[in-house]
Parts: sequence; C-alpha cells; structure tokens
Amino acid sequence: MASLTRKLASKKVRSLEILLRLKRLYPDATCSLTYDSPVQLLVATILSAQCTDERVNKVTPGLFSRFPDAQALAGANREELETLIRSTGFYRNKAKNIQGACDKIVREFGGKVPQRMEELLTLPGVARKTANVVLAHAFGILEGVTVDTHVKRLSQRLGLTTQKDPVRIERDLMKLIPQPDWENWSIRLIYHGRAVCKARKPDCQNCVLADLCPSAEL
Ligand code: SF4
Repeated sequence: MASLTRKLASKKVRSLEILLRLKRLYPDATCSLTYDSPVQLLVATILSAQCTDERVNKVTPGLFSRFPDAQALAGANREELETLIRSTGFYRNKAKNIQGACDKIVREFGGKVPQRMEELLTLPGVARKTANVVLAHAFGILEGVTVDTHVKRLSQRLGLTTQKDPVRIERDLMKLIPQPDWENWSIRLIYHGRAVCKARKPDCQNCVLADLCPSAEL
C-alpha cells in the first residue's frame, strides 16, 4: 500500500512537470475546431472522429451556413447532410448520429445542448471524449479529461497509464492532474502528439519531455 502511494505521488510529480513544460512550449494551445455555438462544437467534435480538425474546419463553414442550429440539422435532408460531410469519412454514421443528437436536443432539451455529463451521454454518437470537449470549451465545465488518440498514445508512452480503454485512461489521468488543468493537459498533449510524439515516429531527440519519458529512444 505504501509503495502504491509512493508510485502515485511520483507519477503526480512527473505529470505536473510534463504539464509545466508543455504549457511553456504551447502557451496559446486551444481547441482547434471552429464553431459559433455549443451545438456547432458538438457537431464538429462528432465529425472529428477518425478525421483531422483541419479537414473538419474545411467542411463546417458550408455545413453550418446551410444548417446553423440543432433544429435545422435535425430536419436536414439526410442525403444532403451526407454530401456536405462526406470528406470527413464515416459520413453515413456521422450524419445519423448528428441528426439523432440534434433531434434529441430539440425534443428533450429545448434546442440547447445539455450541460450535464449524464445528459450529454444520452445523445447518439456522444461518448465521454465528445462530452468532455463540449463541456470544457462551450461551457467551461471540467468534468473529466478528454482522451483522444493523441492523449491515449502519449499518456501510455509517458508511463502514466497502462490502460487501453479510454474511460480507464481518463480515470488514471484524473488522479494525476489537478482538476483545473484537465483540459489544459489534453489540449497540450494533442499539440505535442501532432508536432513531436507522432504515432509512427516519435521525435524523441527533439522532445522536451525525453528525460521524463520511459519510452524515450535517444
Ligand atoms: S520522449 Fe519520445 S516517446 Fe516520450 S513523449 Fe517525447 S517523443 Fe514521445
């Protein structure tokens, strides 16, 4: 028990140092999806699954000028919606989820995206990752740590979790990172994952975290 507590304490110290360095490296890091309202952020986040934010940002201006809110998206012609979002991949499933979520938002939440995790998770296509992004960036509510593919990979490489399931990884990270920094953590790990600690070839030689990382190849 004592050694488990010591292990957790040393992981916490390392996590805080990692966060400090990444804050210095990416001082202005923020959500890179463009949106004008909570529902637009929700839709953009659904579209970002298996797709880059860059590509999503190319698709959403056309999509949101045609269907700007939950009501318009819920009532959209499915084929037209699929055509508009096609280039983000998995477009049939994404269109179905977007319309299912928007329909529920209109019918059960007065056309407004709910601000509680339990309610968000009842929307089609919304798991904790999407809910955390929407809560943090649309409402400033920190309910958890967003675990996308970059956060998952980097947290594993940095030796902060041995879990594979995003919900379990999130639980591990919530014990290590102070709550006010939960979204700061995710955003900066995403930046670092895109720029340095890439999936195929991490650039450990040029990584500011190398001395803190058990996976560093130097
Ligand atoms: S040292 Fe290498 S594996 Fe570790 S975080 Fe940096 S780039 Fe990734």
